[in-house]
Amino acid sequence: MIYSTDTLIFLQEQSLRLPSYYSSNRAKFSGFGSKDNFINWYLDQIKNNDCKCHYCKVSILDVRLLLNNGVIHGRSVKGNGLRGPNFEIDRKNPVGQYDVNNCVLSCYYCNNDKSNTFDYATYLNVIGPVRAQIWKVLLDQLRAV
Ligand SMILES: [Zn+2]
Repeated sequence: MIYSTDTLIFLQEQSLRLPSYYSSNRAKFSGFGSKDNFINWYLDQIKNNDCKCHYCKVSILDVRLLLNNGVIHGRSVKGNGLRGPNFEIDRKNPVGQYDVNNCVLSCYYCNNDKSNTFDYATYLNVIGPVRAQIWKVLLDQLRAV
């Protein structure tokens, strides 16, 4: 599967994807107040952060470029597609609820790695910048081909 790396198409895809994503996780996302609040928050996060992961600052469009070229791989989830080409919602405090104060959009790679292992500040300030360097090496290699 080839994922679009165009910002406007990506945003359109998200607008189409998010209503059913919310509905499938209604209880989990109840802290957002409503489906519309959730969708607006999510889309605003994308736009305000220029499509970048909160932690490593990689553009999700560059993640897709690496996926499309087989440089990195996603992870298949039964009945739930592939983790990798879309943002995931990370809770800064993993025991807190899903709401606007506790949630950020993260790439799958940071979200999976941070898990409950690292606290928010450590991930943001120590690990995120290291991952950013790794993305840069991979993207530079790809663009040099
Ligand atoms: Zn990231």
